[in-house]
Amino acid sequence: MSGVRLLGSVADFRADGRPLMVVDVDEVVLRFVAPLSAYVARFGYRLEPRSFAITGNVVREGGGQAIAGELVKELIDCFFRDEVENQPAVDGALAALATLGATCDIVLLTNVPARQAERRAAYLSRLGLGCPMIANEGSKGGPIAALAMAARDVGGEALEVVFVDDGPNHLAAARGTVARLRLVHFVADPAWFAMAPQVGGTWLRTRDWAEVTRAVTALAG
Ligand SMILES: [Mg+2]
Repeated sequence: MSGVRLLGSVADFRADGRPLMVVDVDEVVLRFVAPLSAYVARFGYRLEPRSFAITGNVVREGGGQAIAGELVKELIDCFFRDEVENQPAVDGALAALATLGATCDIVLLTNVPARQAERRAAYLSRLGLGCPMIANEGSKGGPIAALAMAARDVGGEALEVVFVDDGPNHLAAARGTVARLRLVHFVADPAWFAMAPQVGGTWLRTRDWAEVTRAVTALAG
């Protein structure tokens, strides 16, 4: 295993012709909501699971009013700066990726801030992962389309492409740009999984990596 290699951009991805699996990191491979919730509590804030969003659900301890979006953004930035090497792995994620890596070309597509991308890649390497990682900003629709095109250029038009993410917006953006994309809506946290809006065209909705492994293996095996 050569560890997790941080690619400079989507254009640096070299497909190997096997079915492509693009996998988000936060709340899919690493826990995000639970450690973020513990982090903001240190500063006198509380993350309330009222709806499937961070912004609008962070309140001051003892108050019910949501704090400003700018402050939430700052807290999340500080969280990644301080905790990017402390986010626990999601149950079953590392074993599943090891298994699926035998039949699929796996790429991690994460919206971790660029400043923390190298540290995230190094941490994921220490956890035993070995695949490329791309640090993205904003919508994932464009990057998914480019990765799928690169994979199908090598593996053929019928090649399976699977995209695993917790974010409804990312899944919806990707769906519109790639033909025959298998969307896996994966949210590790049980409370947040229950609140996650349904995404049209989802192939699999789950918080269980064993279920993902079975489904993708049946496609790609
Ligand atoms: Mg995520």
